[in-house]
Amino acid sequence: MPGMLYLVPTPIGNLGDISIRCRQALEEADFIAAEDTRVTLKLLNHLGIKKNLVSYYEHNKAQKGDVILDRILAGETCALVSDAGSPAISDPGEELVKQCAEAGITVCAIPGPCAVITALSISGQSTGRFCFEGFLSTAKKSRREHLEALIGEQRTMIFYEAPHKLLSTLEDMAQVFGSERPISLCRELTKLHEEVVRTTLGDAIELYTQQPPKGEFVLVVAGAQPPVKEEFTAVDAAQRVKQLMEEGLSRKDAVKQTAKELDLPKNVVYDAALNAE
Ligand code: SAM
Repeated sequence: MPGMLYLVPTPIGNLGDISIRCRQALEEADFIAAEDTRVTLKLLNHLGIKKNLVSYYEHNKAQKGDVILDRILAGETCALVSDAGSPAISDPGEELVKQCAEAGITVCAIPGPCAVITALSISGQSTGRFCFEGFLSTAKKSRREHLEALIGEQRTMIFYEAPHKLLSTLEDMAQVFGSERPISLCRELTKLHEEVVRTTLGDAIELYTQQPPKGEFVLVVAGAQPPVKEEFTAVDAAQRVKQLMEEGLSRKDAVKQTAKELDLPKNVVYDAALNAE
């Protein structure tokens, strides 16, 4: 019988956020795959857990993934943790989950700390529809391309960002989305110096020019306003039908085309055209 893969979220700052179920999964696993074994060792020491640790990070995941998979196939249970937060979300783990799923291994994700959701919920921005954009590229060109692809995005957008890149990211965002676009900068969540600055892109640039950014940030940016729909009246519709008929279209086709062009119901356009005669 193959074992299982548990995805075990760990605190993003406050050690009190480790859940009973996460602690149990760490205790019961045959081994723990960790992004940085030194970071995880500190957490395990805090929890009083001693366990075999295997490192699994961005640059060894190709070969370590196979080793972990073989151990699970041989019957062992693995708990995957990252340095902080939910494994597989902008963290190594995505590949391991794919590998396990393809091999028919059961993957169990334990819910828990995750910076993106913590930031969204505290942001004060609309939470009904959102998209997670992860980290922007460090290369200016691809960072701009990524942001430009989001110009018309109406959902709330969430980004992870490192403090040393914050200002240039805010400047790029202000150029692409406009300096009046609302943003919530969620810093050091669940830690002693937790702070949420709810402002605009322009004011955020001013703030962090005066006060160099420190700590970990999640940026929650308001989506674009929906485009204002032009309101067409019955008079507009009747005029357009008349014009199209003068150009040679039948009344039926002129009504059909006008309805399409002005995004109005066909019967409304038809009545408007008749009333205008
Ligand atoms: N998998 C993790 C999660 O989803 O919670 C995220 C890992 S990602 C490598 C690290 C990024 O998450 C940081 O650069 C920062 O943008 C964000 N982050 C993590 N902890 C945070 C915290 N306590 N406060 C604010 N942002 C945090």
